Amino acid sequence: MSRLVLDGVRAFYGQAMALDGVSLTAERGEVVALLGRNGAGKSTTLKAVMGLVRVAAGGIRFDSTDLGALPSHRRARLGVGYVPEERRIFTELTVTENLEVGRQPPRPDAPTWDEARIWRLFPPLAELRRRLGGRLSGGEQQMLAVARTLMGNPSLLLLDEPSEGIAPILVAAMADAVLALKSEGLTILLSEQNLRFAARVADRAYVLSQGRIAADGTMAAITSDHAAIGRHLGTG
Ligand code: ATP
Repeated sequence: MSRLVLDGVRAFYGQAMALDGVSLTAERGEVVALLGRNGAGKSTTLKAVMGLVRVAAGGIRFDSTDLGALPSHRRARLGVGYVPEERRIFTELTVTENLEVGRQPPRPDAPTWDEARIWRLFPPLAELRRRLGGRLSGGEQQMLAVARTLMGNPSLLLLDEPSEGIAPILVAAMADAVLALKSEGLTILLSEQNLRFAARVADRAYVLSQGRIAADGTMAAITSDHAAIGRHLGTG
């Protein structure tokens, strides 16, 4: 259950091709990282799974369901949770109220979330429960964005750059949270530019370059492939 399969996905913005035949899999309980430079297609891949960009060719399957034709809210109801790069929390609502907005009925194949459980996953948020979203730091907002999505009881979690722009101590807390979610059987597909964060949490990775998969393998194999990292990630 909770297996995601992309097969030859193509997507365009106007005439410009953003994804040129992306194929990947993520199994239940697996953390899979999408790596690559700015503009490589990582965010577009996540949006394609959530139904936020149109797939021009290829298929996306979640367990036995073909997601291709379904609008985003139907995908969410099937257990797909998405945390966008820009977080989109409600700045005029408190932390607790933001969580309430995300609450959905329980689903048989996924953990059911409530506030107590959220505070255990993200202890710093518990202290801030009455604070307005707009008064949180970047890292606290990121935790809240993930927490609000969890209140929808997803079995597949799509995270767009979860470690971006947050303080190192909260990066560590975010990594711990991702590993805790994995241990509960969630399938997690995340985009990341921070190779250290990806190395800490991911089982496998796909390296995107110009909308194509340029390399893939276990996270250990990818991080030890210095040539691929230099070519496609511009570091190491
Ligand atoms: P980033 O980390 O910068 O978000 P990314 O790997 O996630 O990079 P995408 O955001 O998926 O890359 O972008 C893939 C390609 O699509 C890029 O060439 C980008 O310029 C283009 N693109 C992304 N969003 C749009 C949009 N809304 N309209 C037009 N082109 C877009």
